[in-house]
Amino acid sequence: MEATVAITEAKQKKGKPDPETLQFGKTFTDHMFTMEYEEGKGWIKPEIIPYAPVEIDPAAMVLHYSQSVFEGLKAYRSPDGEAVLFRPDENFKRLNRSNRRLSIPPVNEELLMEYLLQLLELEKDWIPDAEGTSLYIRPFIIATEPSLQVAPAKAYKLFIILSPVGSYYPEGIHPVSIMVEDHFTRAARGGTGTAKTGGNYSAGYNAQAKASGEGHAQVLWLDGVEKKYVEEVGSMNVFFKINGEVVTPELNDSILQGVTRKSVIELLQYWKVPVSERRISMEEVLTAYENGELEEAFGSGTAAVISPIGELTWKGTPMIINGRKTGEITKSLYQTLTGIQTGQEKDPFGWTR
Ligand code: PMP
Repeated sequence: MEATVAITEAKQKKGKPDPETLQFGKTFTDHMFTMEYEEGKGWIKPEIIPYAPVEIDPAAMVLHYSQSVFEGLKAYRSPDGEAVLFRPDENFKRLNRSNRRLSIPPVNEELLMEYLLQLLELEKDWIPDAEGTSLYIRPFIIATEPSLQVAPAKAYKLFIILSPVGSYYPEGIHPVSIMVEDHFTRAARGGTGTAKTGGNYSAGYNAQAKASGEGHAQVLWLDGVEKKYVEEVGSMNVFFKINGEVVTPELNDSILQGVTRKSVIELLQYWKVPVSERRISMEEVLTAYENGELEEAFGSGTAAVISPIGELTWKGTPMIINGRKTGEITKSLYQTLTGIQTGQEKDPFGWTR
């Protein structure tokens, strides 16, 4: 990969959006980063160019066999006006893990970081500064080789696009209702659940529609084999506080390794709150609920950071958690993580850059 990025500035700049009316992922900045992969040459032609539609061959392999990966992270504006990134190295590591699973050639993580910093330097005015707002960063790779052969492509394109996003909780953090899905699965053992690849998400739409139709915000996914063990919630990792201990499903080869999940575990350890990564069944969650020991539950992910669960419905039985109020640990995690991410709170871990 080459260190120098060719920059072509947009002739016309767009107006900045009103953070109050921003919808997630609908507005994009003036520029994007692109780079190509050619067999024998590796990743070449790193460029920052005006944001615009791209031309794609109808036979491009991504359009047929979905060979693609993506990432999602945010840049916040700190109180002194600096752009703050939260553990971006973890996202680039995960990008390469996803690449490996989808047979896409790896990228040089350090160089990609340099390219992202150059793009952000050019687009820094796009980082909104209102409470809770941020600039969402979406790196992604697609197979561009025109071919209908069912085999890894020989050509790829990597993009980084940027999208200013409004506050996830404009009315303050609030617990949501979740439906445990026991028919559809998000990911199977040996499948692609540990990779951030498009098909995992579109395959979840029908279960999400079912949950929404029954008045729930999200789906809780169970393992694909026995439909017994908890895996994730929507596109977040999931945590339960049971009798003083915080439990999250251990990583297997169907759970996405969340950056927020990792940070929650490290923060709890730092606070000396008991936390364990282990298999947890819905039976265990229900028993804890019946014994009055299910104290808190929440999801973790880049979009919402921490999303408290107020109600969990399994096989028609609703479990009301903490009287549908945000629990103490959930609240502390939310405040500390968002404080560190926005540069408003001391970062004892060196997570931000
Ligand atoms: N699980 C899935 C399926 C996801 O898409 C995400 C979002 N990347 C997460 C969990 C949370 O990961 P992170 O904390 O890195 O955003």
